[in-house]
Amino acid sequence: MANEYLTVQEALTAVLAGVSVLPAERVPLLAALGRVLAEAVVAQDNLPPFANSSMDGYAMQAADLVAASQNNPVRLRVVADIAAGSLPAVAVTAGTAARIMTGAPLPAGADAVVPVEDTDEVWRGSERPLPATIQIFRLVQPGDYVRHPGEDIKVGQEVLAAGHVLRPQEIGVLASLGVSQVPVIRQPRVGILATGDELVAVEEPLTPGKIRNSNGYAQAAQVLAIGALPVVLGVARDTEADVRAKLQKGLDEGVDLFLSSAGVSVGAYDVVKAVLEAEGNVGFWRVRMRPGKPLAFGHYHGIPYLGLPGNPVSAMVSFERFARAAILKMAGHTMLDRPMRQVTLLETISSDGRESYIRAVVRRDGTAVTTGSQGSHIMTSLVQANALLIVPEGMTEVPTGTQLTAWMFDWPEHVF
Ligand code: AMP
Ligand code: MG
Repeated sequence: MANEYLTVQEALTAVLAGVSVLPAERVPLLAALGRVLAEAVVAQDNLPPFANSSMDGYAMQAADLVAASQNNPVRLRVVADIAAGSLPAVAVTAGTAARIMTGAPLPAGADAVVPVEDTDEVWRGSERPLPATIQIFRLVQPGDYVRHPGEDIKVGQEVLAAGHVLRPQEIGVLASLGVSQVPVIRQPRVGILATGDELVAVEEPLTPGKIRNSNGYAQAAQVLAIGALPVVLGVARDTEADVRAKLQKGLDEGVDLFLSSAGVSVGAYDVVKAVLEAEGNVGFWRVRMRPGKPLAFGHYHGIPYLGLPGNPVSAMVSFERFARAAILKMAGHTMLDRPMRQVTLLETISSDGRESYIRAVVRRDGTAVTTGSQGSHIMTSLVQANALLIVPEGMTEVPTGTQLTAWMFDWPEHVF
């Protein structure tokens, strides 16, 4: 596929076809946050597991209270005091009631609970001595203030399907069902390689002609931010031997995907290309996309390899469009895009006919403005942006008022 011109969609389709969903593993419950379920979860218990009270109050037989009202309270004899976590020792019969706390098991014989607020129970400071009798000022229907077993989840029910993404609420449900080890898709390990003789490490002094390796960090952060594991391979000098050595380190570390930046354009020192062509089947594409035209994709020693452009903004935007989807697919996700919404552009911009990803601020009212210079080396334009506006292929003039699709990063509180 060398030197072909591809649309963004064609390139994305080819990248996604070249990566597979990783195998499953079992992890402790909390470690499953953000992961994708590998198998359906079937409830082994009812939730709630037993009939219990939804209020602090008195459990009794609703039939005893049919005549109860504010002016005509019904008096019942109190036969038990049931705390949450304890089992009722006696049954409730006609004319009797058991004091019951929220979450405590409903005693045998009772069919409803009346909240303590609707009784004459007297509090002495924080003390609540158990009264011998209780007056109740209202009627209740059978089942009132009772949580029924299986009302939320029934034993045997498929609670979560394979492929479900686990958020805090799913973690809570799994905990309530006693699932302490969760079958999830393994997290992709992504080998991050920066290339170029001009790069120095962040902690090294900047000398003339050098720049700091920002991509290595930006891509590692992008990988972390989507729940995958970066394996930092450092900076390869522009020699075939060094590129090979750094990639070997990735093979030794068992990475699931290589992600490099730079060295995929037509520069004279792009030795990455030479290594990948010699030892892999990696295609060098020109994608009709702005920023981020050059892109390499294929396999190196059998491991998927994605080569991003070197310019920091191009690298990050290409990651957003291609690497993000590939990594999410490997992690078992099926929703591979960011949330998108239609927005109204509040200025006039121009494009060069390639599908363009314009750094912008999308406001809550659905309008959008660009974040200034769109140079592919202007990192601060990404810092200010909360979205990329997608200018479709073929469009060169984009007048103010145009409706565009926004690829949303986030919605920070200071953006209204
Ligand atoms: P190249 O693809 O090697 O021609 O690089 C394109 C541009 O991206 C050049 O200006 C490089 O200096 C810059 N660049 C390449 N790699 C990095 C990196 N890791 N961090 C920051 N800038 C980079
Ligand atoms: Mg270079």
